[in-house]
Amino acid sequence: MRLIILGAPGAGKGTQAEVLSKKLDIPTISTGEIIRNAIRQGTDLGKEAKQYIDRGLLVPDDVVIEIVKDRLTQDDCKNGFILDGFPRTVPQADALTKMGVTIDKVLSIEVAEEKIVERISGRRQCSKCGATYHIVYKPSKEENICDLCGGELIMRQDDAPETVKNRLKVYHEQTEPLKDYYQSKGLLVVAYGQEEVADTTKEVLKALGVV
Ligand code: AMP
Repeated sequence: MRLIILGAPGAGKGTQAEVLSKKLDIPTISTGEIIRNAIRQGTDLGKEAKQYIDRGLLVPDDVVIEIVKDRLTQDDCKNGFILDGFPRTVPQADALTKMGVTIDKVLSIEVAEEKIVERISGRRQCSKCGATYHIVYKPSKEENICDLCGGELIMRQDDAPETVKNRLKVYHEQTEPLKDYYQSKGLLVVAYGQEEVADTTKEVLKALGVV
């Protein structure tokens, strides 16, 4: 399956992508993760992207389009993939079409805005390997320590409340129009985020028709 996951920041795109990736045995391509890795490694891309990401703004289209174009040519994408966080603008969606990539389904995960703020404030990420946690919904075994590599868990810099406000604004203005864009192509399915991750996964699988 070639799947796009849309949703506001904190809607649970990454968490559901991880579950689907295992279930369907296809890779997740998260532009946010690729960018955060580049920032951790201090590459030129990381240095350029940091000025946008820290302010809750989108990284320029041409930069992310190149990242995705390059990633999709890799062998593991042959049998399908999950795009988590791309496209985020109409020009990015058009670029995907121009690459000759056909998409099977576009899943939008919907969560009420007041929930989003609560969810984001509890998110934590490993400063070493990037594994993600939530202090309530997905806690690490030992407080502030990554289960996978023992690294320290920190809050993402762009999860600070002021930055989240910007990210939500950007989402409504630039990304939400993609719902109509893909609805008109007959590709959009919707799942409603639930309190528990497993319950959201049930909704997601139902929406995608995967059993
Ligand atoms: P995410 O982890 O998907 O929430 O992405 C974190 C940040 O990375 C976003 O707020 C943007 O600054 C940047 N980013 C990720 N994906 C894209 C994209 N498709 N277009 C532009 N910026 C992006």
